[in-house]
Amino acid sequence: TCSMTPETRQLAEGVLRGNRLALSRAITLIESTKESHRLDAEALLDHVVYERSRRVREKGRLKPGNSTSNAACVADEGRIGTSENVRPLRVGIAGPPGAGKSTFIEALGKYLTDSKKLRVAVIAVDPSSSRSGGSILGDKTRMYELAKDPKAFVRACPTSGVLGGVARYTNDVVLLCQAASFDIVFIESVGLGQSETIIDQASDMLLLLVPPAGGDELQGVKKGIMEVADVIVVNKADGHLLTAAQHTAAAYQHALCFQRRKWDAWMPSVTLCSALERHRIADVWEQVCSCSDVFRRSGYLRLKRQNQDKYWVWNSLEDILVRRARTSSKIKAGVERMEKELGKGTLTPRSAAEILLADFFEEQKSPTKS
Ligand code: GDP
Repeated sequence: TCSMTPETRQLAEGVLRGNRLALSRAITLIESTKESHRLDAEALLDHVVYERSRRVREKGRLKPGNSTSNAACVADEGRIGTSENVRPLRVGIAGPPGAGKSTFIEALGKYLTDSKKLRVAVIAVDPSSSRSGGSILGDKTRMYELAKDPKAFVRACPTSGVLGGVARYTNDVVLLCQAASFDIVFIESVGLGQSETIIDQASDMLLLLVPPAGGDELQGVKKGIMEVADVIVVNKADGHLLTAAQHTAAAYQHALCFQRRKWDAWMPSVTLCSALERHRIADVWEQVCSCSDVFRRSGYLRLKRQNQDKYWVWNSLEDILVRRARTSSKIKAGVERMEKELGKGTLTPRSAAEILLADFFEEQKSPTKS
C-alpha cells in the first residue's frame, strides 16, 4: 500500500467514502491493460480491502454492548440483518435472454433503494462482449432509473480482453463495491454459457429468473442452471401471461422435489413476479432474505466464501504465473532455441514447456544470475 501514487491514494479514499465517481474510475483502472495501471490497480485494491476490514473491525469494537465484533447485527435494514463483515450480500442473477433480467434488477433495485434505504450496486458481466461492445450495453437505456439513483451504482463489465482474465476481474470489481460500502451487489450474467461459473464464484446465492414458458421450453432451462439456483423467480406474471407464469412456477416447484439439494438447510423456492408492473417484488426480496438468513446461520455462507477465496487464489496464481512467464526473456529465448528440435520432432511441446518451467523457477530463485 505504500507504493501508491498520490492520485491512486485519493481514488482509494474516494472509493472508501462510497463515492460513485471514484468507484467508476477505480473500475476503469482495473480494466486497463497498461502495465503501470495494473500496478496502480493492485495497490489500490490491496489498500481499500485492507482499510475496509480494518474500519469494519473498529466499528464492531466500538458498537455499544457488542463484545463479539462479528455479531454486529445491523438489523432492520430490509432484513438483510447481516454483520458488516458479510456485507455486501452478493446476489448472482442468471436467466435466458429476454427473461426480463434488466427490467427485474431495475424494479428490485429501486424497491431496495427507495423502500429499504439500501445502497445497491449492479455489475453486468458479459464475457462475450468486447470493450466497445460492453459500452454499447452500458449506453443503452438498461436500468435507466437505477443508474440515475444516487443510492445505486450500475456498471456493465465487458470482460474479454481484460488483463488477468474474465474471472479475476469480476471478483475485483465486487471487492471494490464492497469497499465502497454497498449493501447489495447484483452480479448479472448477460452472456450465455461460462459466465454462470464466474457468477457462482463471486456471489453468495444465485437467483434464476425465467419467463413463462410452455412445457418443452421449460426442460431447456431446468438442466444444469436449475441445480445451482437458490431462488427461482418466474417473471412476467401479468396480463395474458399470468396463467402461463403460474403453470411455469408449478412446473419448477414440482421439478425441485426431484432434485438433490445443494445444501440441506435450504430448499430452493419459486416465486412469481412482474418486473414490468413492479408487482410482488417484495415477495422476491423476502425469499432472498430467507435464503441469506439460512445460508448465514447454518454456516454455509462461511464455507462458500472460504472456498471462493481459495478459488480466487488459484485463479490469480495462474494469472500471475502466465504473465511472468510471458514476460521472461529467458523463456522467450528458450522457445526460440527449441524451435529446431520441435520442428524435427525430437522434442514435444509439452516437454519443452516442462524444461522452460524448470528453468523459469531456477531463474526466480536466483534472479541476479543469467
Ligand atoms: P433481459 O434480456 O433478460 O435483460 O430482458 P429485458 O429486461 O431486456 O426484457 C425483455 C423484454 O421483456 C422487454 O421487452 C421487457 O419490457 C419485457 N419484460 C420484462 N419484464 C416483464 C414483465 O414483468 N412483464 C412483461 N409482460 N414483460 C416484461
